[in-house]
Amino acid sequence: MSDINSDLALFNELVEVLLSEEENNPVAERIEASELYDAIDLSLSDGPLVDDQFKQVLKEILVSTPKTATRLFFNQLFGGRQSKAVLGDLLAVMLNNSMYTYKVAGPQVGIEQEIIKQSCDMVGYGPQSNGTFPTGGSMSNYMALIMGRDAKDPNCRADGITKPLIIYTSVASHYSNSKNASFAGIGRNNIRYIATDSEGRMDPIKLEEQIIKDLSEGLIPTYVNATAGTTVLGAFDPIDQIADITEKYNIWLHVDGAYCGTLIFSKKYKHLLKGMERSNSFSYNAHKMLGTPLTCSIILVNDKKQLHDSFSNDATYLYQTDGDDFNLGKTSFQCGRRNDALKFWTLWKSIGKDGLEQIIDHQFELADAARTYVKSNPDYTLYSFDDSIAVCFNYKDIDPMALCTALYEHQITVVGFGSFQKDTFVRFVTINANNSKEDILNFFKVVEEFVAEHPELEKVKELVA
Ligand SMILES: *Cc1c(COP(=O)(O)O)cnc(C)c1O
Repeated sequence: MSDINSDLALFNELVEVLLSEEENNPVAERIEASELYDAIDLSLSDGPLVDDQFKQVLKEILVSTPKTATRLFFNQLFGGRQSKAVLGDLLAVMLNNSMYTYKVAGPQVGIEQEIIKQSCDMVGYGPQSNGTFPTGGSMSNYMALIMGRDAKDPNCRADGITKPLIIYTSVASHYSNSKNASFAGIGRNNIRYIATDSEGRMDPIKLEEQIIKDLSEGLIPTYVNATAGTTVLGAFDPIDQIADITEKYNIWLHVDGAYCGTLIFSKKYKHLLKGMERSNSFSYNAHKMLGTPLTCSIILVNDKKQLHDSFSNDATYLYQTDGDDFNLGKTSFQCGRRNDALKFWTLWKSIGKDGLEQIIDHQFELADAARTYVKSNPDYTLYSFDDSIAVCFNYKDIDPMALCTALYEHQITVVGFGSFQKDTFVRFVTINANNSKEDILNFFKVVEEFVAEHPELEKVKELVA
């Protein structure tokens, strides 16, 4: 029945199909959601399936699943494929360790710790720093919030929240902040959304004004989330200026670098994170700019005691050998935990920090090429700014939502839209480091050709206006 060697052979065969599909049909054959269950047999039944039919249905699924690694996928803050990272992830699947103890994970513990230690050094954290690999950027933000909450009110770990804790983040920050406030018992209504400047960065003056107001009302400022790379514009909150405030009022400062915290690897762009060493926690996703498979998220803390205080729990059935430094379950949210470190380590080990730096810098070069194109062409309006890999634009006054949806429905290219203040626009992200400048210019060509063939798109806007 099951034989790993024949399944691995099948895996190789299926991957061949996938790779040739990516080459020949970079935008997958789209199935209308309402027709999904009729189009492919996804049903599960009592009896087994013969091998040929099993293979056939797997092929159908591969062909019609959206292709995120191709040169026409720009919809998300991830894309492309770093093959050395894929290799590491496949090995992690075969090894199937759980990262909670040294007894079960062995050298994988050291692999995870090496990444964390080097990352802490790059951020500029001290000798007491450490971190862990949560399930993603949202979870990293959640763990940071829990640590900030516990640091301000240690009793809440035992008694629950009894004090009016207030947290701060910018209006342009990631939506996980509001969910996390609810999970953490702080409450969505106790978040203060601080206005941004005209380029999407948190306004530190407004932040301090709000903190002073809250203090005067007997409330307790607890936690500030600064974003390094906002989800839509890719803006960087001024960490240094925010740290002046959090230090003055003794508030936990977290840097949400899920998107662009990876700039710690770039000598050229690291300055955008200036002041990060003054934060209490810092997170980044290797599955965004660095292109590892989903998910690979890292949270770092300047003082590992905080991580331990908030997340450790004794469990004699689990922690039976070795010390806390090797039993990583003492500082993680989960119990059983997937090995997300190996794929990042294989990538890093094989191409070096210099190679990671090139991956990052290349994306900025691609964004520069896209911005130059948009700026030099009067049919386009640019809404985003330099030092960002998000290039936000509108074309010929066409409604961006209608355009993105039509491009998707006609399987032309996959790209999304976003909003900032009163504008809505196409958000084109040059996050796939496998792309070349030609691929970027090709995207615009493809869009322009499509619009030329669909003049009705230009009319939609006229009707609205
Ligand atoms: C993507 C992103 C997140 C969420 O990360 P997930 O891994 O998708 O949970 C959080 N913050 C910012 C700024 C992001 O861009």
